[in-house]
Amino acid sequence: MDKLEILEGRKQSVFEKNKDAGAFDISCETTSLSGSVSQRACVFCGSRVVLYPVADALHIVHGPIGCAAYTWDIRGSVSSGPELHRLSFSTDLQEMDVIYGGEKKLYKSLIELIDQYTPKAAFIYSTCIIGLIGDDIDAVCKKVSEEKGIPVLPVHSEGFKGTKKDGYKAACDALMKIVGTGSTEGIGKYSINIMGEFNLAGEAWIIRKYYEEMGIEVVSTQTGDGRVDDIRRSHGAALNIVQCSGSMVKLAKMMEEKYGIPYMRVSYFGIEDMSKALYDVANHFSDNPAIMEAAKNIVRREVGEIYPQIMKYRAALSGKKAAIYVGGAFKAFSLIKALSSVGMDVVLAGSQTGNKDDYAGLKEMCDEGTVIVDDSNPVELSKFVLEKQADLLIGGVKERPIAYKLGIGFCDHNHERKIPLAGFVGMVNFVKEVYQSVMSPVWQFAPRKGGKL
Ligand code: SF4
Repeated sequence: MDKLEILEGRKQSVFEKNKDAGAFDISCETTSLSGSVSQRACVFCGSRVVLYPVADALHIVHGPIGCAAYTWDIRGSVSSGPELHRLSFSTDLQEMDVIYGGEKKLYKSLIELIDQYTPKAAFIYSTCIIGLIGDDIDAVCKKVSEEKGIPVLPVHSEGFKGTKKDGYKAACDALMKIVGTGSTEGIGKYSINIMGEFNLAGEAWIIRKYYEEMGIEVVSTQTGDGRVDDIRRSHGAALNIVQCSGSMVKLAKMMEEKYGIPYMRVSYFGIEDMSKALYDVANHFSDNPAIMEAAKNIVRREVGEIYPQIMKYRAALSGKKAAIYVGGAFKAFSLIKALSSVGMDVVLAGSQTGNKDDYAGLKEMCDEGTVIVDDSNPVELSKFVLEKQADLLIGGVKERPIAYKLGIGFCDHNHERKIPLAGFVGMVNFVKEVYQSVMSPVWQFAPRKGGKL
């Protein structure tokens, strides 16, 4: 265990509250350190996760098959209708295409797939190799769009050109090209777009129901259970509600600038933040007191229902220690509050894409001794989990094996999960999953590394 050391070039991205008592100046929003085996995904993956849930669009990965395989069915985003998004098409570039260019292959693939599936739009993702060989995908998209009469949108997401966050930006740029192209007729005064909500295990449906019960019209969800026509008319909404702010604040800002639509950041995880997400929207529409009244009724009813269930788990979980490593730092805020409501202590809080403000906020929220980290790697995460004697790691698919190898519980809070963790009902699911993993009898057969039983 003594061998788990932090690389010299990574030390500025790690901060321990109280130990590093000087000025808080964590290094973040930079490219990953070579050789550190970052947990971060590439630019292409960043754009793919944002756009993937648009269910009636064609998604073509222009590049070698590995990029498509890496991101195939990447989100557990469910659709209430078409499921075209779940088919991962690729131009499968080979050596000869790299030498002579892949534009013709892309053109032929697009024509064939549009004829076969009649999508409402098509997203064409550039991968690393396209950045190297210089295919003009804009020209191909323009040509096909004119021929077929649907939006064909280039997504400039060459994997090597930045961080996962740059992929989010590329996705927002692509979406912005269709926002504003549909009719806003019939959209009411109390209307919103739910943004940065990807309908994992049906979460967008849960959230949508709350807002509709408050008398608010949901014009579009972007992008969970997303439809191209809804996105096209989403500039008619009165307010944008942005969760997962790292991925979609850029789009909200562009819509604010172009269409004057204000936006607010929310989170749907945990009782506190879920309630706030309803109250904040109700406050925005304060000229209609019935909306606030309805929000209060929902919170009263839902909390009354779930609170006794949560308290059943609290006795067992109280005093247990959790390590959090998630994609966006904003989610970590909600998780810290949710864990504290069942008496758990957070000993590590980190993210792939946080900024300085996010980490400063985490520092304020966390207890003394908590490690705060940006763009971590398996060695660091293992080191922190062992040193801090965490009982649980919350993360995504890449963190799961780390937890199991160390013999501690794990909770998937990323886009692969199949259980809704958002909304009031999601809080019960979350606490139940944490309980089942931390208290599982399996740990007697796979004891934790580092000595503590
Ligand atoms: S775009 Fe580049 S970094 Fe991303 S999966 Fe493809 S080859 Fe790998």
